[in-house]
Amino acid sequence: MSSFPFCAEYDKRGQAKCKKCKEKCEKGELRIGKIVTNPFSESGGDMKQWHHVNCIFETFKRARATTKKIEDPVDDIEGWENLEEDDQKKIRALIDDLQNEIANKKTTPKKQTPQKKTPSKAGQQQFGKKAAGTPDKPRVSRVPSAVRNDPGMDPMHKDNSFREFRRLCANVAEESSYTGKTNIVATFLKNGANKDGFQGDLRLWVKLLLPGVIKRVYNLQSKQLIKLFSQLFNTNQEEMLEDLEQGDIAETVRNFFEQSAMLPPVKKATLSIQDVDQFLEELTGMTREEEQSYVLKKIAKRCTANDLKMVIRLIKGDLRINAGAKHM
Ligand SMILES: [Zn+2]
Repeated sequence: MSSFPFCAEYDKRGQAKCKKCKEKCEKGELRIGKIVTNPFSESGGDMKQWHHVNCIFETFKRARATTKKIEDPVDDIEGWENLEEDDQKKIRALIDDLQNEIANKKTTPKKQTPQKKTPSKAGQQQFGKKAAGTPDKPRVSRVPSAVRNDPGMDPMHKDNSFREFRRLCANVAEESSYTGKTNIVATFLKNGANKDGFQGDLRLWVKLLLPGVIKRVYNLQSKQLIKLFSQLFNTNQEEMLEDLEQGDIAETVRNFFEQSAMLPPVKKATLSIQDVDQFLEELTGMTREEEQSYVLKKIAKRCTANDLKMVIRLIKGDLRINAGAKHM
């Protein structure tokens, strides 16, 4: 496990998408990774959630007080010493800016309107310094979080984790009565995973919970999935087809994924529902096998065995929770 909470590097390939804005990080562009650990798992490797530099600081501004942020770049960023001096300066300016924002939030009473807000003198000075070196961005985050109306978009929030999505589906599947199923979903979407109010992306939850209603076309029959995954896992296609006779493609893929040495599952669940949605979007409408294989590999690389099983369920448009639109 890395001892740094973040890392920075110049993107060598320009493939990764920024976790916040979903745009690609350009080749050669400086990017910052949040090194993610899963509190539910005691083993397994780290995962990096890549961000544009400005984007990760935007997420910090919206994050809770307890969320780890970049405070001291030397201590917090792996690879800091390899960055160009100009970029180090820029990041230091963003850190100053962020710390001012946080200080202002603390000293501003919650009910005060943003217009009346007067930043401290020190804050303004720091701001001037920053304006000299960095391009201006819309200052949405000057508004106290209490009056902002953009919850649900933080993919790192537990209410947006794909693990929570799986957990909810499992609970709904176990419940036999339709009233009970409805209650489970309604309670989660009201209270959230931490029971302190749902803060996830409601629209996206509904979309994923009802894959049969909001249909996407994948051109991926079960046998096609077997073919592609048998190549990715380097396993015997015939054996997978035999396993498929039990009637659950998602379970078959999960089984063989767990045994795959070529493409082993990750141990810690770190996917967000936004990640999964974006992947499904990419897969939609693809017809060429190489493209499908490339995207399936990309997602499998980030999946636990259970994650991939649920992804397959989503692709097949059946979550096997015995509930549909009228129950939710
Ligand atoms: Zn971005």
